[in-house]
Amino acid sequence: MEIEQLVKDHAKGLGFDLVRIASAEEFVQDRDAALERLQAGHMDGLPWFTESRVRRGADPRTLLPGARSIICLGLSYLTPETTATSLSTSSGKVARYARLRDYHRVMKRRMRALVLELSNSLEAQVSARWYVDDGPMLDRAAANRAGLGWFGKNTNILTPNHGSWVFLGQVITDLELEPDLPLRKTCGSCVRCIDACPTGAIVAPYLIDNSRCISYLTIENRGQIPRELRPQMLDWVFGCDICQEVCPVNRKASTGDPSVWERTETLRQRHDTPDSGTPSPTRNGGLGLLDLVGLLRMSEEGFRERFKGTPIMRAKWDGMRRNACVALGNLADPEAVPVLREALETGSVLVRSHAAWALGRIGTPDARQTLENAASTETDEVVAWEIESALEDVPCPC
Ligand code: SF4
Repeated sequence: MEIEQLVKDHAKGLGFDLVRIASAEEFVQDRDAALERLQAGHMDGLPWFTESRVRRGADPRTLLPGARSIICLGLSYLTPETTATSLSTSSGKVARYARLRDYHRVMKRRMRALVLELSNSLEAQVSARWYVDDGPMLDRAAANRAGLGWFGKNTNILTPNHGSWVFLGQVITDLELEPDLPLRKTCGSCVRCIDACPTGAIVAPYLIDNSRCISYLTIENRGQIPRELRPQMLDWVFGCDICQEVCPVNRKASTGDPSVWERTETLRQRHDTPDSGTPSPTRNGGLGLLDLVGLLRMSEEGFRERFKGTPIMRAKWDGMRRNACVALGNLADPEAVPVLREALETGSVLVRSHAAWALGRIGTPDARQTLENAASTETDEVVAWEIESALEDVPCPC
């Protein structure tokens, strides 16, 4: 059997939906595009996204000396678990990819197993390094070169069968493999993702202003969410799927195999791979529909227990409570006033300031009364300013 077929058979056997091969040449064009984005300030707010990181990530041979090929992998996260949509007035939305267990672990365990299986089959030590969007590797550039998919105007990789609902992984290896060809596909004249983005974050085709994207604002951003963007964030509390949901390619996407998210035990037995931490639930049922009142009242310990082993941990306890305030303000449900009052009395500066904004959006007489009471006792400048601004938005009953 040809070695390329062997690689693909092993990858499919481990549950990957997509596998293609790219050469390990430097990604010159993609590097220059990333550096331009960086210099233009479109990556502001991501301090780890530096010039040296881009340069390293663009040259696979700096990541693995002697690298010859990249095995590009895709795992669909479009499963029945991630497509639930029935939201209530007090629920906040979570991006689909985050409704399952932490994909880094799921993917990396399989990528490690792939390298072990190849070494066994070839009776040689395969030298390799693997990445799942948490290293410098330019993952989308590799997927594009391998023909796993093509760049959509929202900068996601669109794959022919699974759309952009895929996690991307790369195994850089010293194996000499015949590369696959890039796809000859584009989005043509379609601009639905650009038109649908509520914050105007897709500032031009293939260019996202990170600082306006709801994904950044709800996850990586540790501070205040700019007031002018809060109303446009709707009820998203972790990430955003809007530009993917409107994409015609995604509407025809096939679902992935949900059992991949349940086969950890089998895989561990097969390769005797040590697991880190306690076994997490195979699925985190209900993660797409977070109860905002419960989230805002959650203790830090309760937060850790509830979201351990999921991508939601990345936004941290205070960040998720901040996001819950913004979503409650946008849903404008008067029944949220008591929980926002509690948050305004006991939360951190971050939570108090967003709770004040949310009360201003709800604007009922008891919301106004809550803000007036807080205004007379608040000592923090930032929160006091938020309370004052919120009061300006609420009609005075007098
Ligand atoms: Fe806009 Fe949401 Fe897409 Fe970000 S994820 S570019 S906010 S539609």
